[in-house]
Amino acid sequence: MRNRIVLDGAATIFFLTTRKPHQGRVISGYYHVGWYTEGTQGAVNRDYALAADKMHFIDPILASDLAEPLAAIGSTQFRTMKPIDVETVATLRRICDERPDRTAEYLGEVERIEAFARARSGYAYPSWGREAGFSWADAPEYYQTDAELSKVPNSSRNRKWRCRECGYVIKSGALLKKCPLCKQMATLAPAEEGA
Ligand SMILES: [Zn+2]
Repeated sequence: MRNRIVLDGAATIFFLTTRKPHQGRVISGYYHVGWYTEGTQGAVNRDYALAADKMHFIDPILASDLAEPLAAIGSTQFRTMKPIDVETVATLRRICDERPDRTAEYLGEVERIEAFARARSGYAYPSWGREAGFSWADAPEYYQTDAELSKVPNSSRNRKWRCRECGYVIKSGALLKKCPLCKQMATLAPAEEGA
């Protein structure tokens, strides 16, 4: 998604989610991207880090309550992301901007979920082995700092990845930025069968 955003020069990311049970898709707000730089795997691997210069979250709106064609765009099935045209972006942004900014409440909810996960598992983000939430102090870990990057495949046929720092093999469907064991950035590469 980040790669596509940089290639297309698409600056606005709208967030949709499905409200359960059976309430359908809702739009919950947007980020406006102000900056991008190379991610830890570098532009050679089409990896970018984005930063928003504006965000605005709202009381969720049911996509099906929007006027067409917005209702159809918001309600249609799609996986992870769907690029939309400039006119739709402008309309959706206006709809969000007209509503009270609930960003502080959203961030409070993130903190509540992190605390809940920490109480249960010891980690705010158990699959990453991460105890704390995120702040701007963590941002440099997501930039590219190693100029000598080799091309790393971002998929592993057997879903196994080996960390070149700690040597541990982890299982994951997608390439993780950070080794969950030793917490080093950009150290994972596909682990060959039998290697
Ligand atoms: Zn490691």
